[in-house]
Amino acid sequence: MDRFWPTFARRNPIPNRYDHNIEKSIKEAKIFQRVIIPFGSPQKGPFCTSLVKKGDVVQKGQKIGDSEIAAATPVHSSVDGKIVSIGPHHHPLGGKISSVEIEVSEEEKGEIRAENHLPPIPAFDREAFIQKLRVYGLLFHNTLKAAQNKKINTILINATSFDPFISSGRQILSEYPGPIVWAILLLLEAVSGKRAFICLEKNERGIYQKIQTLFSQSPLNTKSGSAIRVHLLKRPVPSFAHYFLANLADLKVYKNKQLIDQGVLVITIPTLYDLFSSFALNQPKIENVITVIGSGVKTPGNFRVRLGTLFSDIIDQCGGNRKHLGRIIMGGIMSGMSQITPLVPVVKETDGILPLISFVLDENTSDLYSPGPCVRCAKCIDVCPAHLMPGMIAEYGRRKRFSDAKEYGAKNCLECGLCSYVCPSRIPVSELIRATKRQIEEEIT
Ligand code: SF4
Ligand code: SF4
Repeated sequence: MDRFWPTFARRNPIPNRYDHNIEKSIKEAKIFQRVIIPFGSPQKGPFCTSLVKKGDVVQKGQKIGDSEIAAATPVHSSVDGKIVSIGPHHHPLGGKISSVEIEVSEEEKGEIRAENHLPPIPAFDREAFIQKLRVYGLLFHNTLKAAQNKKINTILINATSFDPFISSGRQILSEYPGPIVWAILLLLEAVSGKRAFICLEKNERGIYQKIQTLFSQSPLNTKSGSAIRVHLLKRPVPSFAHYFLANLADLKVYKNKQLIDQGVLVITIPTLYDLFSSFALNQPKIENVITVIGSGVKTPGNFRVRLGTLFSDIIDQCGGNRKHLGRIIMGGIMSGMSQITPLVPVVKETDGILPLISFVLDENTSDLYSPGPCVRCAKCIDVCPAHLMPGMIAEYGRRKRFSDAKEYGAKNCLECGLCSYVCPSRIPVSELIRATKRQIEEEIT
């Protein structure tokens, strides 16, 4: 796997899937001695204030943080246990965030979820649905609130796995197609949507068959059930490439107008699974399904993990030797975030952990990491799904010529990471473009 980054493998236009020796089925992760739950995210809305104090005993699912600001998302305890401290702690999205540390009760064993039971779809108006999303602590409440007065006709679901390492979303759909379709029907009902498109890769025939079988079964063969279509795509699509996905799904959308203003709401498989957990099982957001994979662990896999579990505990559980790790990334190899410490907790945004050993990836120990000059090979242009000239934009960004970068379409970059992946000179093209985009945005605001 370490050869993935700076070797000839980078010259493949599309990264090979790295799932041949991973146990894909979702397993329950151990519940460890302590969890650390931040009172918010540095990137998603305002922070909550604590509703508990040191020494309090809390129960799984209990609300422990909230705010009077509607955009803040309440925080729930993911375990039964006792509060041992409240204070700043490293967050995997950067910075130190006020967090609560809970010592897990010895009786906390986890439980078997009743995924196979699909209750009738509850009726909601949109306002009540958004309120309920907030109560359950789902970040999606802000997305829907921003679209509160907009007419939504179409729900678009990206069920492709763009990152070659992260298979948690795909695995959720494969194991729980019923709950996912249930959640789509719930969402259609709540936003008065007309149709939903599940965009799936062509080679996922097994999942396709499972979904088709579901449509012919009660209780999902309802009137609205017939509004769900599966689109088979030749290639995976990055999770943030919404316009690209809409075009592949044959929706007539315009680039100069927000998708939501054109009646299209985009949602991911893990978010749909959260909707099912909350509205069908009455469980607030207390866990995530994540992929743990990389050269730093012996037994990679997909795990259902309680929020607040430390990366270090999960890496140990997967047979990792933390002394040999050169890098730990939250998210995928293409666009994930490097961590400065393994003592960061799993948060609502975590979909994967990549512990990597150091001998190639650590810039302090490997010459292979250093970027070379641009050799004008145009590989980045060939591979760019947004039809940009990535090398050129990155160079403008590096020279702080932001207006030129903007003219060359920096803002249309999908941040997929493919240009960095293929560049034979190991230039961090997408990272430079990402920084350039942020700079352009700051100049506008
Ligand atoms: S410029 Fe790079 S990161 Fe941006 S869309 Fe093109 S290939 Fe992806
Ligand atoms: S940035 Fe990299 S991939 Fe793009 S033209 Fe230059 S050397 Fe080639």
